[in-house]
Parts: sequence; C-alpha cells; structure tokens
Amino acid sequence: MAKEKRMNVLMVSLPLQGHINPMLKLAKRLISKGVHVTIATTEDARHRLFRKHDSDASSEIHLEFFPDGLSFDFERNDTNSLINSIESKGRRNLSTLITNLTKAQDYSCVITNPFFPWAIDIAAEHGIPCALLWIQASAVFSIYYRYFKNIHVFPNLEDPNEKVNFIPGLPTLHVRDLPSFMLPSNPEHFTRLLKHLYQSLDKVQWVFGTSFFEAEEEIVKSMVSLTRFYPIGPLVSPFLLGETETNGVSVDMWEAEDSCIEWLSNKPTSSVIYVSFGSVIVLSNKKIKNIATALKNSNKPFLWVLNPGAERSNDKEDGADELAFEILKETKGKGLVVKWCKQERVLMHPSVGCFVSHCGWNSTLEALVTGVPMIACPEWTDQPTNSILISDVFKNGVQAKSGEDGVISAQELERCIWEVIEGPNAEEVKNRAMEMKDLARKALQKGGSSDKHISQFINDMIIQNSHP
Ligand code: UDP
Repeated sequence: MAKEKRMNVLMVSLPLQGHINPMLKLAKRLISKGVHVTIATTEDARHRLFRKHDSDASSEIHLEFFPDGLSFDFERNDTNSLINSIESKGRRNLSTLITNLTKAQDYSCVITNPFFPWAIDIAAEHGIPCALLWIQASAVFSIYYRYFKNIHVFPNLEDPNEKVNFIPGLPTLHVRDLPSFMLPSNPEHFTRLLKHLYQSLDKVQWVFGTSFFEAEEEIVKSMVSLTRFYPIGPLVSPFLLGETETNGVSVDMWEAEDSCIEWLSNKPTSSVIYVSFGSVIVLSNKKIKNIATALKNSNKPFLWVLNPGAERSNDKEDGADELAFEILKETKGKGLVVKWCKQERVLMHPSVGCFVSHCGWNSTLEALVTGVPMIACPEWTDQPTNSILISDVFKNGVQAKSGEDGVISAQELERCIWEVIEGPNAEEVKNRAMEMKDLARKALQKGGSSDKHISQFINDMIIQNSHP
C-alpha cells in the first residue's frame, strides 16, 4: 500500500480532560495551516470524553485509542495504578499502535503531553522527531527544569517558609509557592513522571508552551540558554480570541447547565462573582462554608460551580449537598449553584465581574483572554505558582491568603472580592486584566508571537521531511 504524502502529526495524551483539551486546541491551529492531526489516548477516554466528539470537538481530527492495561471497570481515579499500568503495559500498546499507523502514513512528529513521558522514548524507537506540549505556565516549566536538571540548589523543600529567590522573572517565592509535584509532601508517582520527562528532554526537539510570550516575557527569555522553549498560546477555543470559529474546541466530562447563560443575561454588567475550582478539586465542608459566607456578605450575584467531580471522589464529605442548598436559601436568589457550565462562555459574558478560581492553568488562560479579574485560591500542583503569576506578574488579580490551617477564611475571601470589584486598586487590576486580554489576542493573530512559533515549527518539519 502506498503511503499518504501529507504532513502528519501524532499527539499523545493521558485520558484527562485538562490534558486533551490543550491538544485539541493545538490540533485546530495545525489543521488550519494544512497539517493532518491524529490524537492518541487510552481506550478509557473513548466513551468518557469523546462521546460527543463529532458535535463538540473538531471532526477533522483523527482519534486513535490504545489499551492502558487495566480492566474496563477499574476505578481510574487511582492515578498511581493508572500510571504504573501505562508504564508497564500501556506504553507497549502505544508502540504497537504507532507500528500499525506508520504502515499507512509517515509521521513528521509525535507531540506528547508532559504527563506521558514514555511517548518520547517510543517516538525515538520509531525514529520520529518529538515535541513536548507543556500544558502549564512557562514559569512552572522553568522551575521544574531548574530543579530536576540540578541547575540550582533549592532550599529544604520540607519547610514551606524557606525562600527561593533565584528564578528569573519571578519575585522571591516561598517553598509553599512552588509547584507541588517537586515537593516531598506530594504523591511520589507524579514526581517520578516529571523526573522521567526532564531526563528524556534531550530527545525532544521542540518544547511548546500553552502560554504566550508577552505574558511571561522575562521567564521565557531566561529559558533561551537552557532549552528550545516556544510559547504558542493562549491555547483556548478560538471564539474566545474573537476569531470567527464559533464552536468550542474541547471535550467535557459533564453536561453543562446551559441555563446559567440566560441567568447571567439578566444581571447587570460586571456584577457577578463567578466561582469555580475546576474539574478535580473537591472542597471540604469548611471551605464550602467559608466561600458561602464570603459570597453572602459580599451581597452580589454569584454563579458557583460546586464540586463537579465529587461523585467520583473519596474526598467528598457528607452534607456538602445540603450545604449548597442552605447557601441558596440564605442568599435569597442572589446566586446560582451548578454542577458544570460552559466556562469559556461564562467568562466571556459581560455580566461576569470577577473569577474566584483555584488557578488551574486552563482557567487562568481563559481569564487572561477574557480580561476577567481573578481572585486566586490555589490548592495544589501548579496552582500556587499560577497564583503568584496572577498577583505579581500578570497583575490581573489578587491572591487570597490561607490561614494557619491552610484554609482561606470567609473574611479574607470577602476582602479579596471587595478589592477587585470596588477597592482602591480595583481600577488598576481591571485595566491590567484588559491589557492582558489585548496581548493574548495579538499573540495568535497572523504574525503574532505564538503564530510565528507555530509557523516556524511547520517550516522545521517541512525542512526535515525534505532531508530525511
Ligand atoms: N470548566 C468548564 N466548566 C466548569 C468548570 C470548568 O468548562 O463548570 C473547564 C474550564 O473552562 C477549564 C477546565 O474546565 O478549561 C478546567 O481546567 P483547569 O486547568 O483550570 O483546572 P483542572 O480542572 O485541571 O483542575
């Protein structure tokens, strides 16, 4: 059988919404420049994430699935078992898939997600050039790079108050502000994945960031002497950037409650506090109570996405649903509590005035491109570092400080809401959020910093293909 002669890229990701969505968004960009894209992930994602693929994501993207080595009914919230199984069995299944795919067509590049580092070794075994799509902030890539590659000596990571004052482009950090996958308190399997990634980085030809150059300029410049790192974002749905494409480009774990858009439309401009802690975090009852009290005392309309992942988690405490009901009763119709919404559409809505967020990187990018001021309430992984970016680098929001018990008090959250909506610095934060929105849109326009990096990548692949 003759092989097809077009430029093909194979993307590989763990079957997680927050990992696959940035890949879908990059796929769209590459397709618009004439590249053919296949995304490969594990079988588990086929029904859980891609059930509505044809209508929601782009049907131009070819999907392939391989077994992760676990039985169909295995509870994959157990990330340790999932990672161990992919490491021991799933990676071989990916290699077999690539062997089969390459019978019909050659691939110019494998683009892997950081949490699937085995794809780097497999691409090398198959003689295919490899790229990494870094799905967190450039700052987080820089910190991990300096740690896992031993570029700097870090202080005692057991002590959250120790200072880290040598990361270019960032203010003095404390250990508690570092991304948690390098901390001893963190589950070991995540640290192991990142160690593997940074050890394999020499086999990667391009590292792409989902951020954009103008957002983290000093940080990106400081990486030039260390590795080839190119921001190509913000990787969000094109409609968020004012582009004509009207469909979202994403997979969703849950059905969104569309009624909240209509609800927002009946609220005054910039009046609504939007609250979401993403798809993974399940809030304790104490945290739910504190947020509810802050919202009640702020006396403004609010839209709250509460504990969407709770039914799949062991962390949910009894009584959380009753608490949500109480909140609604006490705030007398001022608020709407939902399980899931179309967040990109919500953030774009003119009624939204601020975003109380766990600072997941996708949420942070979406707030940047919509110009919505943020109140940073980080929990773990890259979120503490993103929260420093929000308060000190982007300056599009403020950071809510936790108390001794690691919980943000109701008073602190109420103070932060007041600060971004009506405090003396509110105007400055809003102006900065609008400046970031403008910079974010320009980065992906024709000739913008990210657009140039994507075009450069395609040119590199063309040159490589012509000199095999
Ligand atoms: N999201 C959504 N609806 C919701 C809450 C979140 O569509 O009700 C989306 C949000 O737009 C973002 C993603 O879920 O793209 C969350 O990703 P993020 O990196 O912020 O956090 P994670 O869920 O990975 O912790």
